[in-house]
Amino acid sequence: MSLILAVNAGSSSLKYQLYEANDFTVLASGQIERIGKEDAIASIKVDGNKEKKVIPILDHTRAVEVALSDILEFSSVKNLDDIKGVGHRVVHGGEAFDNSVIVDDAAIAKVEELSSLAPLHNPANLIGYHAFKDALKEANHTFVFDTAFHQTMEPKAFLYALPYKYYEDYQVRKYGMHGTSHKYIAKRTAELLDKPIEDVNTIVCHLGNGASLAAIKGGKVIDTSMGFTPLAGVMMGTRTGDVDPAVFPYLLEKTGLSVDEQMHVYNYESGMLGISGISNDAREIEEATAEGNERAILTSEMYAYKIANYIGTYFVHLGHVDAIVFTAGIGENDTGVRARVIDSVSEALHINFNHELNSKVRGVEVELSEEGSTTKVFIIPTDEELMIAEDTKKLLGL
Ligand code: ADP
Repeated sequence: MSLILAVNAGSSSLKYQLYEANDFTVLASGQIERIGKEDAIASIKVDGNKEKKVIPILDHTRAVEVALSDILEFSSVKNLDDIKGVGHRVVHGGEAFDNSVIVDDAAIAKVEELSSLAPLHNPANLIGYHAFKDALKEANHTFVFDTAFHQTMEPKAFLYALPYKYYEDYQVRKYGMHGTSHKYIAKRTAELLDKPIEDVNTIVCHLGNGASLAAIKGGKVIDTSMGFTPLAGVMMGTRTGDVDPAVFPYLLEKTGLSVDEQMHVYNYESGMLGISGISNDAREIEEATAEGNERAILTSEMYAYKIANYIGTYFVHLGHVDAIVFTAGIGENDTGVRARVIDSVSEALHINFNHELNSKVRGVEVELSEEGSTTKVFIIPTDEELMIAEDTKKLLGL
């Protein structure tokens, strides 16, 4: 038996999904939260049954031990040597990686070097890698990068109009994020349309706590909304999205906040939370909007407007759009967001939107457009773990 583990290691969390390599049957999925704490939470799901415990897990090495012993205890897997491949999500691959790679010393060194571009994420991804490398003697490892799928963007799309030397000397440019999700959705959309991916133009709306859109032409990203960091693009749960850069120094002067404090405002106190003053959670915004709360209504309208702006731009560059796809927590579940976004663009893109169906469906793969739509609309639940597992299988020849 050949198994593949897809791993997403964060600074205080570890998520994993275990697959049968032959047909990608999911044998177990689990997560460890609050790594570093006495009351860390370890959970594992097998065949729809969830086991959960609160125990001290003080570092990633221990987290990996707990995850692997949970797999042995609760899943059908009885020998960890069957795990032949481990795919690790790595947030930033810079310009060095336009695809997933088998891990070697050079790849590790490069990911370490790129930590300056993702200081919160790349080091945590590497800690996860080392912990699994030590624990699983029979496995080979791959890195799957969040930025890689966006590397097809041309310079005219990814450069900022700063002096060119800042790109040359400091690699300042648009990288984009959520690439693994966008890649999965592009592939799945082509399957649903029953067309070769080379013939399909898609706008993917990955709307979770973090949110990004991508314009994908024939399977290649031509533009995406996140930038040098995940702060750019559309409005998010607590992040600003695009703001005139001159606002930053202006507010420093007016508020007396430090650069770090102001960055905190941009990252954690803005977006839906900042505008509504209620919550960063789309569910609460939706409820307050329904109750007639004015700031919630404004938040809902702004959120859809910013997304529609990007859809409009991408529509122009794509020429025609076969499908707009909603995915991630908000995209899959928030009926109000989907309706407002599509209402904003349906005239331009000739969409016949099935409002009634939209209001009823959450978290399922479904078409929301009706007969006669030039552009189709889908919900496709994202599956980044499956992409990681597929790339790992391909690279390792499992
Ligand atoms: P992350 O970017 O952390 O991976 P997710 O893709 O899991 O985020 O999305 C999380 C967000 O999805 C939540 O903060 C919430 O706003 C939204 N969400 C989840 N379920 C629903 C729902 N039923 N209705 C509306 N929004 C939802």
